[in-house]
Amino acid sequence: MKAIRVRAFGPPEEMRLEEVPDPKPGPGQVLVRIRAAGVNPVETYIRSGMYPRRPALPYTPGNDAAGIVEAAGEGVRGIAAGDRVYTSETVTGAYAELALCDPTRVHPLPGSVSYAQGAAIGVPYATAWRALFQRARAVPGETALVHGASGGVGSAAVQIARAAGLRVFGTAGTAEGIALALREGAHAVFDHREAGYLEKAVAATEGRGFDVILEMLANVNLPQDLKALSMGGRVVVIGSRGAVEIDPRDTMARDASIVGMSLFNLPDADRAVVHAALVAGLANGTLRPVIGRELPLSAAPESHVAVMSPGARGKIVLLP
Ligand code: NAP
Repeated sequence: MKAIRVRAFGPPEEMRLEEVPDPKPGPGQVLVRIRAAGVNPVETYIRSGMYPRRPALPYTPGNDAAGIVEAAGEGVRGIAAGDRVYTSETVTGAYAELALCDPTRVHPLPGSVSYAQGAAIGVPYATAWRALFQRARAVPGETALVHGASGGVGSAAVQIARAAGLRVFGTAGTAEGIALALREGAHAVFDHREAGYLEKAVAATEGRGFDVILEMLANVNLPQDLKALSMGGRVVVIGSRGAVEIDPRDTMARDASIVGMSLFNLPDADRAVVHAALVAGLANGTLRPVIGRELPLSAAPESHVAVMSPGARGKIVLLP
Protein backbone atom coordinates (compact mmCIF):
# COMPACT_ATOMS: atom_id res chain seq x y z
CA MET A 1 0.00 0.00 0.00
CA LYS A 2 0.95 3.65 -0.20
CA ALA A 3 1.51 5.49 3.07
CA ILE A 4 3.05 8.73 4.28
CA ARG A 5 6.24 7.98 6.19
CA VAL A 6 8.20 10.27 8.51
CA ARG A 7 11.84 9.15 8.81
CA ALA A 8 13.10 12.14 10.84
CA PHE A 9 11.29 14.73 12.98
CA GLY A 10 11.29 18.12 11.29
CA PRO A 11 9.47 20.31 8.75
CA PRO A 12 6.44 19.16 6.71
CA GLU A 13 8.74 17.98 3.86
CA GLU A 14 9.85 15.11 6.13
CA MET A 15 6.53 13.47 5.16
CA ARG A 16 6.96 11.41 2.00
CA LEU A 17 4.64 9.04 0.17
CA GLU A 18 6.18 5.55 0.13
CA GLU A 19 5.24 2.01 -0.84
CA VAL A 20 5.08 -0.19 2.29
CA PRO A 21 3.80 -3.74 2.96
CA ASP A 22 0.05 -4.07 3.57
CA PRO A 23 -0.66 -4.47 7.30
CA LYS A 24 -2.41 -7.70 8.36
CA PRO A 25 -4.89 -7.77 11.26
CA GLY A 26 -3.76 -9.86 14.21
CA PRO A 27 -6.16 -11.21 16.86
CA GLY A 28 -8.32 -8.41 18.23
CA GLN A 29 -7.44 -5.97 15.43
CA VAL A 30 -9.42 -4.41 12.60
CA LEU A 31 -8.01 -3.50 9.18
CA VAL A 32 -9.65 -0.44 7.59
CA ARG A 33 -9.34 0.57 3.92
CA ILE A 34 -9.08 4.34 4.19
CA ARG A 35 -11.09 6.61 1.90
CA ALA A 36 -10.23 9.84 3.75
CA ALA A 37 -7.91 10.87 6.59
CA GLY A 38 -8.35 13.96 8.77
CA VAL A 39 -5.49 16.41 9.40
CA ASN A 40 -5.25 17.74 12.98
CA PRO A 41 -2.87 20.35 14.46
CA VAL A 42 -1.48 17.74 16.91
CA GLU A 43 -0.05 15.78 13.98
CA THR A 44 2.07 18.80 13.04
CA TYR A 45 3.39 19.14 16.61
CA ILE A 46 4.33 15.42 16.68
CA ARG A 47 5.97 15.57 13.23
CA SER A 48 8.05 18.59 14.26
CA GLY A 49 9.50 16.60 17.19
CA MET A 50 8.50 19.34 19.67
CA TYR A 51 5.61 17.39 21.23
CA PRO A 52 6.16 15.39 24.45
CA ARG A 53 4.75 12.26 22.74
CA ARG A 54 7.12 11.05 20.03
CA PRO A 55 6.51 7.82 18.10
CA ALA A 56 9.41 5.56 17.13
CA LEU A 57 10.80 6.45 13.67
CA PRO A 58 9.86 5.83 10.95
CA TYR A 59 6.13 6.26 11.46
CA THR A 60 2.91 7.09 9.59
CA PRO A 61 0.99 10.09 11.06
CA GLY A 62 -2.73 10.34 11.69
CA ASN A 63 -5.54 9.17 13.99
CA ASP A 64 -8.71 10.06 12.15
CA ALA A 65 -9.89 8.20 9.09
CA ALA A 66 -13.04 6.92 7.45
CA GLY A 67 -13.44 3.99 5.14
CA ILE A 68 -14.54 0.39 4.89
CA VAL A 69 -13.52 -2.52 7.08
CA GLU A 70 -11.27 -4.75 4.99
CA ALA A 71 -10.90 -7.53 7.56
CA ALA A 72 -11.52 -8.19 11.25
CA GLY A 73 -9.00 -10.31 13.18
CA GLU A 74 -9.79 -13.29 15.34
CA GLY A 75 -11.96 -12.48 18.36
CA VAL A 76 -13.35 -9.18 17.04
CA ARG A 77 -17.09 -8.96 17.66
CA GLY A 78 -19.62 -6.55 16.16
CA ILE A 79 -17.37 -5.27 13.33
CA ALA A 80 -17.19 -7.10 9.99
CA ALA A 81 -15.63 -6.73 6.55
CA GLY A 82 -17.64 -4.28 4.45
CA ASP A 83 -18.78 -2.05 7.36
CA ARG A 84 -18.58 1.73 6.82
CA VAL A 85 -16.61 3.15 9.76
CA TYR A 86 -14.66 6.09 11.14
CA THR A 87 -11.65 5.74 13.42
CA SER A 88 -10.68 7.76 16.48
CA GLU A 89 -7.14 6.35 16.66
CA THR A 90 -5.07 3.87 14.66
CA VAL A 91 -2.20 1.50 15.42
CA THR A 92 -0.33 2.01 12.13
CA GLY A 93 -1.29 5.60 11.11
CA ALA A 94 -4.18 7.12 9.18
CA TYR A 95 -2.25 8.89 6.37
CA ALA A 96 -2.28 5.64 4.38
CA GLU A 97 -4.40 3.39 2.18
CA LEU A 98 -4.89 0.86 5.00
CA ALA A 99 -4.69 1.10 8.78
CA LEU A 100 -4.79 -1.38 11.64
CA CYS A 101 -7.01 -0.31 14.53
CA ASP A 102 -8.10 -1.41 17.97
CA PRO A 103 -11.84 -2.26 17.69
CA THR A 104 -12.70 0.25 20.46
CA ARG A 105 -11.36 2.98 18.13
CA VAL A 106 -13.58 1.94 15.20
CA HIS A 107 -17.11 3.40 15.09
CA PRO A 108 -20.04 3.00 12.68
CA LEU A 109 -20.33 5.70 10.01
CA PRO A 110 -23.99 6.37 9.11
CA GLY A 111 -24.74 6.12 5.37
CA SER A 112 -25.71 9.81 5.20
CA VAL A 113 -22.18 10.90 6.21
CA SER A 114 -19.47 11.01 3.52
CA TYR A 115 -16.02 9.51 4.01
CA ALA A 116 -14.46 12.99 4.01
CA GLN A 117 -16.88 13.97 6.78
CA GLY A 118 -16.12 10.72 8.61
CA ALA A 119 -12.44 11.70 8.66
CA ALA A 120 -13.39 14.94 10.46
CA ILE A 121 -14.96 13.27 13.50
CA GLY A 122 -12.38 11.40 15.60
CA VAL A 123 -10.28 14.11 17.23
CA PRO A 124 -12.37 17.28 16.63
CA TYR A 125 -15.85 16.02 17.56
CA ALA A 126 -14.64 13.89 20.47
CA THR A 127 -12.70 16.89 21.80
CA ALA A 128 -15.71 19.20 21.46
CA TRP A 129 -18.10 16.73 23.11
CA ARG A 130 -15.75 15.93 25.98
CA ALA A 131 -14.95 19.60 26.55
CA LEU A 132 -18.61 20.61 26.70
CA PHE A 133 -20.13 17.79 28.69
CA GLN A 134 -17.43 15.80 30.50
CA ARG A 135 -15.13 18.70 31.43
CA ALA A 136 -17.34 21.83 31.53
CA ARG A 137 -20.51 19.89 32.52
CA ALA A 138 -22.58 22.16 30.27
CA VAL A 139 -26.37 21.84 30.50
CA PRO A 140 -29.18 23.02 28.20
CA GLY A 141 -30.03 26.67 28.67
CA GLU A 142 -26.46 27.68 29.48
CA THR A 143 -24.45 30.11 27.37
CA ALA A 144 -21.25 28.96 25.66
CA LEU A 145 -18.50 30.87 23.86
CA VAL A 146 -16.59 28.78 21.33
CA HIS A 147 -13.27 30.38 20.42
CA GLY A 148 -12.09 29.37 16.94
CA ALA A 149 -15.61 28.39 15.85
CA SER A 150 -14.34 28.26 12.24
CA GLY A 151 -11.94 25.37 12.95
CA GLY A 152 -12.32 21.62 13.24
CA VAL A 153 -12.99 21.49 17.00
CA GLY A 154 -14.86 24.80 17.09
CA SER A 155 -17.34 24.05 14.30
CA ALA A 156 -18.02 20.67 15.93
CA ALA A 157 -18.60 22.38 19.28
CA VAL A 158 -21.04 24.86 17.73
CA GLN A 159 -23.15 22.06 16.21
CA ILE A 160 -23.06 19.93 19.38
CA ALA A 161 -23.84 22.79 21.76
CA ARG A 162 -26.64 24.14 19.58
CA ALA A 163 -28.25 20.70 19.27
CA ALA A 164 -28.05 20.31 23.06
CA GLY A 165 -29.99 23.52 23.73
CA LEU A 166 -27.21 25.91 24.70
CA ARG A 167 -27.06 29.54 23.62
CA VAL A 168 -23.98 29.50 21.40
CA PHE A 169 -21.56 32.33 20.63
CA GLY A 170 -18.44 31.90 18.52
CA THR A 171 -15.30 33.68 17.37
CA ALA A 172 -13.48 33.47 14.04
CA GLY A 173 -10.84 35.54 12.25
CA THR A 174 -12.22 35.94 8.72
CA ALA A 175 -15.56 36.81 7.13
CA GLU A 176 -15.67 33.29 5.69
CA GLY A 177 -15.04 31.73 9.13
CA ILE A 178 -17.72 33.90 10.72
CA ALA A 179 -20.23 32.88 8.03
CA LEU A 180 -19.33 29.21 8.56
CA ALA A 181 -19.90 29.39 12.34
CA LEU A 182 -23.24 31.14 11.86
CA ARG A 183 -24.30 28.56 9.26
CA GLU A 184 -23.43 25.73 11.64
CA GLY A 185 -25.67 27.11 14.37
CA ALA A 186 -23.98 29.86 16.38
CA HIS A 187 -26.46 32.51 17.54
CA ALA A 188 -23.80 35.23 17.08
CA VAL A 189 -20.14 35.25 16.00
CA PHE A 190 -17.43 37.84 16.72
CA ASP A 191 -14.16 38.58 14.91
CA HIS A 192 -11.27 37.67 17.24
CA ARG A 193 -8.97 39.98 15.24
CA GLU A 194 -11.07 43.03 16.11
CA ALA A 195 -10.17 45.12 19.19
CA GLY A 196 -12.84 44.87 21.91
CA TYR A 197 -14.56 41.83 20.37
CA LEU A 198 -14.87 40.03 23.71
CA GLU A 199 -16.58 43.00 25.39
CA LYS A 200 -19.06 43.02 22.48
CA ALA A 201 -19.65 39.28 22.96
CA VAL A 202 -20.28 39.75 26.70
CA ALA A 203 -22.70 42.59 25.91
CA ALA A 204 -24.62 40.12 23.73
CA THR A 205 -25.25 38.02 26.89
CA GLU A 206 -26.91 41.10 28.48
CA GLY A 207 -23.67 41.53 30.40
CA ARG A 208 -24.05 38.24 32.28
CA GLY A 209 -21.04 36.56 30.70
CA PHE A 210 -20.54 32.97 29.58
CA ASP A 211 -21.23 29.84 31.59
CA VAL A 212 -18.75 27.93 29.43
CA ILE A 213 -15.83 29.07 27.27
CA LEU A 214 -14.03 26.62 24.98
CA GLU A 215 -10.53 28.00 24.51
CA MET A 216 -8.44 27.01 21.45
CA LEU A 217 -5.60 29.50 22.03
CA ALA A 218 -5.32 29.94 25.80
CA ASN A 219 -1.90 31.63 25.67
CA VAL A 220 -3.59 34.56 23.91
CA ASN A 221 -7.10 34.62 25.40
CA LEU A 222 -7.16 33.12 28.91
CA PRO A 223 -6.66 36.36 30.92
CA GLN A 224 -9.60 38.02 29.13
CA ASP A 225 -11.72 34.84 29.20
CA LEU A 226 -11.69 34.88 32.99
CA LYS A 227 -13.25 38.35 32.97
CA ALA A 228 -15.93 37.21 30.49
CA LEU A 229 -17.28 34.32 32.60
CA SER A 230 -20.60 34.33 34.43
CA MET A 231 -20.87 33.42 38.12
CA GLY A 232 -19.73 29.76 38.35
CA GLY A 233 -18.39 29.87 34.79
CA ARG A 234 -15.90 27.34 33.41
CA VAL A 235 -13.13 27.76 30.83
CA VAL A 236 -11.91 24.58 29.15
CA VAL A 237 -8.34 24.88 27.90
CA ILE A 238 -8.31 22.85 24.68
CA GLY A 239 -5.44 24.53 22.81
CA SER A 240 -2.48 26.61 23.97
CA ARG A 241 0.77 27.45 22.22
CA GLY A 242 2.72 29.14 25.02
CA ALA A 243 2.62 30.65 28.52
CA VAL A 244 0.45 33.54 29.72
CA GLU A 245 -0.10 35.57 32.89
CA ILE A 246 -3.56 35.56 34.49
CA ASP A 247 -5.02 37.41 37.47
CA PRO A 248 -6.23 34.62 39.83
CA ARG A 249 -8.56 37.15 41.45
CA ASP A 250 -10.73 36.94 38.31
CA THR A 251 -11.54 33.32 39.25
CA MET A 252 -12.33 34.25 42.87
CA ALA A 253 -14.70 37.03 41.85
CA ARG A 254 -16.90 34.56 39.95
CA ASP A 255 -16.31 31.18 41.63
CA ALA A 256 -14.88 30.32 38.23
CA SER A 257 -12.96 27.23 37.14
CA ILE A 258 -10.21 26.66 34.59
CA VAL A 259 -10.18 23.04 33.46
CA GLY A 260 -7.71 21.49 31.08
CA MET A 261 -8.22 18.56 28.78
CA SER A 262 -6.24 16.30 26.49
CA LEU A 263 -7.86 13.63 24.42
CA PHE A 264 -4.83 11.46 25.22
CA ASN A 265 -6.22 11.20 28.78
CA LEU A 266 -9.68 10.01 27.68
CA PRO A 267 -10.61 6.91 29.73
CA ASP A 268 -12.14 4.07 27.71
CA ALA A 269 -15.50 4.31 29.50
CA ASP A 270 -15.75 8.03 28.66
CA ARG A 271 -14.66 7.34 25.07
CA ALA A 272 -17.56 4.92 24.66
CA VAL A 273 -20.00 7.58 25.92
CA VAL A 274 -18.56 10.24 23.59
CA HIS A 275 -18.74 8.10 20.46
CA ALA A 276 -22.23 6.78 21.24
CA ALA A 277 -23.37 10.41 21.36
CA LEU A 278 -21.48 11.33 18.18
CA VAL A 279 -22.80 8.38 16.16
CA ALA A 280 -26.35 9.30 17.25
CA GLY A 281 -25.79 12.95 16.26
CA LEU A 282 -24.38 11.96 12.87
CA ALA A 283 -27.31 9.63 12.23
CA ASN A 284 -29.96 12.20 13.18
CA GLY A 285 -28.30 14.96 11.15
CA THR A 286 -27.51 17.38 13.99
CA LEU A 287 -23.77 16.77 13.43
CA ARG A 288 -22.58 17.61 9.92
CA PRO A 289 -18.78 17.86 9.66
CA VAL A 290 -17.73 20.75 7.42
CA ILE A 291 -15.01 19.98 4.89
CA GLY A 292 -12.79 22.92 3.95
CA ARG A 293 -10.25 21.23 1.65
CA GLU A 294 -9.70 17.80 0.15
CA LEU A 295 -6.12 17.02 -0.91
CA PRO A 296 -4.43 13.89 -2.26
CA LEU A 297 -2.40 11.83 0.23
CA SER A 298 0.81 13.00 -1.48
CA ALA A 299 -0.06 16.58 -0.43
CA ALA A 300 0.37 15.78 3.29
CA PRO A 301 3.18 18.40 3.61
CA GLU A 302 0.89 21.10 2.15
CA SER A 303 -1.92 20.00 4.50
CA HIS A 304 0.31 20.54 7.54
CA VAL A 305 1.17 24.07 6.44
CA ALA A 306 -2.51 24.78 5.77
CA VAL A 307 -3.82 23.48 9.11
CA MET A 308 -1.45 25.81 10.99
CA SER A 309 -2.32 28.88 8.89
CA PRO A 310 -4.99 31.42 9.90
CA GLY A 311 -8.31 31.50 8.05
CA ALA A 312 -9.82 28.13 9.04
CA ARG A 313 -12.94 27.14 7.10
CA GLY A 314 -13.67 23.59 8.16
CA LYS A 315 -11.67 20.43 8.05
CA ILE A 316 -8.69 19.54 5.84
CA VAL A 317 -8.75 15.91 4.69
CA LEU A 318 -6.36 13.72 2.69
CA LEU A 319 -7.73 11.30 0.11
CA PRO A 320 -5.60 8.18 -0.49
P1 NAP B 1 -8.06 24.34 13.34
O1 NAP B 1 -9.10 23.63 12.58
O2 NAP B 1 -6.76 24.70 12.69
O3 NAP B 1 -8.71 25.69 13.91
C1 NAP B 1 -8.00 26.62 14.68
C2 NAP B 1 -8.98 27.66 15.13
O4 NAP B 1 -8.34 28.59 16.04
C3 NAP B 1 -9.55 28.48 13.98
O5 NAP B 1 -10.94 28.55 14.13
C4 NAP B 1 -8.91 29.84 14.20
O6 NAP B 1 -9.74 30.89 13.72
C5 NAP B 1 -8.82 29.89 15.70
N1 NAP B 1 -8.00 30.98 16.19
C6 NAP B 1 -6.91 31.53 15.62
N2 NAP B 1 -6.50 32.59 16.35
C7 NAP B 1 -7.36 32.70 17.38
C8 NAP B 1 -7.48 33.63 18.47
N3 NAP B 1 -6.63 34.64 18.65
N4 NAP B 1 -8.49 33.44 19.35
C9 NAP B 1 -9.37 32.43 19.18
N5 NAP B 1 -9.30 31.52 18.19
C10 NAP B 1 -8.31 31.68 17.30
O7 NAP B 1 -7.65 23.54 14.65
P2 NAP B 1 -8.54 22.54 15.57
O8 NAP B 1 -8.38 21.18 15.08
O9 NAP B 1 -9.91 23.11 15.68
O10 NAP B 1 -7.78 22.67 16.95
C11 NAP B 1 -7.83 23.90 17.70
C12 NAP B 1 -6.79 23.85 18.82
O11 NAP B 1 -7.14 22.86 19.76
C13 NAP B 1 -5.36 23.49 18.34
O12 NAP B 1 -4.43 24.22 19.09
C14 NAP B 1 -5.25 22.03 18.67
O13 NAP B 1 -3.93 21.60 18.86
C15 NAP B 1 -6.07 21.94 19.93
N6 NAP B 1 -6.66 20.62 20.20
C16 NAP B 1 -6.50 20.10 21.45
C17 NAP B 1 -7.07 18.89 21.78
C18 NAP B 1 -6.95 18.37 23.17
O14 NAP B 1 -7.15 17.17 23.39
N7 NAP B 1 -6.67 19.22 24.15
C19 NAP B 1 -7.77 18.16 20.80
C20 NAP B 1 -7.94 18.72 19.53
C21 NAP B 1 -7.38 19.97 19.24
P3 NAP B 1 -9.44 31.64 12.31
O15 NAP B 1 -8.62 30.73 11.46
O16 NAP B 1 -10.81 31.92 11.78
O17 NAP B 1 -8.69 32.89 12.69
